[in-house]
Amino acid sequence: MLNCVRNLYREHYNKKIKREKKMADKTNEALAYNCLNCGAPLRFDPTIGKLKCDHCDSEFTVEEIEESFGGKESQSEAKSTDEEWKTYSCSTCGAELMADLNTAVMVCPYCGNNTIATAQFAGSIRPDLLIPFSVTKDQAVKSYEEYYKKGFKKLLLPKSFINDNHVQEIQGVYIPFWLFKGRADIEGTYYAEDSHDEGDYEVTEKYKAYRQGNMSFDRVPADASKRMADNLMDSIEPYDFKSLKSFSMSYLPGFLAERFDVDEKDDRERAKKRVEGTIKQKTRATIKHEKVDEDRVQVDVEFQATEYALFPAYLLTTGWNDKSWTFAMNGQTGKFIGDLPISVGKFILLLLLSFLIPFILVSMLSGTDVAIFAGIIVAVITGLASRTTMKPVHRAIGADDYMEKSVNLTGQNEEHIGSERRKKND
Ligand SMILES: [Zn+2]
Ligand SMILES: [Zn+2]
Repeated sequence: MLNCVRNLYREHYNKKIKREKKMADKTNEALAYNCLNCGAPLRFDPTIGKLKCDHCDSEFTVEEIEESFGGKESQSEAKSTDEEWKTYSCSTCGAELMADLNTAVMVCPYCGNNTIATAQFAGSIRPDLLIPFSVTKDQAVKSYEEYYKKGFKKLLLPKSFINDNHVQEIQGVYIPFWLFKGRADIEGTYYAEDSHDEGDYEVTEKYKAYRQGNMSFDRVPADASKRMADNLMDSIEPYDFKSLKSFSMSYLPGFLAERFDVDEKDDRERAKKRVEGTIKQKTRATIKHEKVDEDRVQVDVEFQATEYALFPAYLLTTGWNDKSWTFAMNGQTGKFIGDLPISVGKFILLLLLSFLIPFILVSMLSGTDVAIFAGIIVAVITGLASRTTMKPVHRAIGADDYMEKSVNLTGQNEEHIGSERRKKND
């Protein structure tokens, strides 16, 4: 009986493969990644880092699949990936997505709408590198639930947001990135100060410093997707580049890949800002005084090489209160991030409590003035802490992870330019 079902299943897939082969014949590419044993669709399994058949439990390494499907040849010959992927476009937000033939795209991971149509793209290029998924969808779903249900967050989340959630719609997407390599040169002058006490006086020594140096950078990432919020992508960094692999289609089955739509040249500005942030901070740190102010600082960034890479992320976009909320998880490290809505009612209640509790406690020991002051302080701190907890998404300001540890100084000097004595107020 079981064999019979299995045979029927196999026949069904063989037919399907034939159909798809026909469509693909013009390029002679093997389009669908099917089990070498039984013909059922394969998917890349992040927990074992191999392709797995859910039908007969066979496992295949990426190398084995490449060999049987001729991926190796296409890697060296084909510059274009267009013919190898099934392509979709979202008619709501315009996202262009690719998947292997066995993976269907039902919901757009960027806008959450199901207005997905098959499409045809022209002139895209093959990625150079890829980091495979190492987190499964189940783990992503679990992390998301843990993320918004954790203590403080659950306290402030509107109830209807939790109820309306479409957790199961989390999708694994390979996000396109440009990786930039190059060198930054810096030249700057700084004012610096040290202060110490001498009896009743505070003495401030003043210096002027000069620094010249450089730092090289390698693989500073900037996502090449228009729809992907830059701050969200910056916030799920870093990716561990030790697992970078040469690109192969065999990592794709079961996931989507977005086609880049930000030109490499247009992404440079982002990488440049981060490199500037790091070299400025590292150079300033070489001036060993208590207080350092930049006077005039000039940074030149030279780009030497660019690579095109795909990084794994799980995305969930959920509509709530006429706004769309996107959550992202690093598909390699499991780091989860996303801004959460704050319930106004709950927020006001929390502020009220954080004012009243210290107010009542302090007023029992001290005057009303002091109690009001204590209440306000605690309420302000609570308010700020709520914001940081609920809105953790932010832009990256440096590129420390992708640069040398310190600046190579090629010139430096420092001169003492004066001192100031000031009588301390009582
Ligand atoms: Zn199989
Ligand atoms: Zn969309």
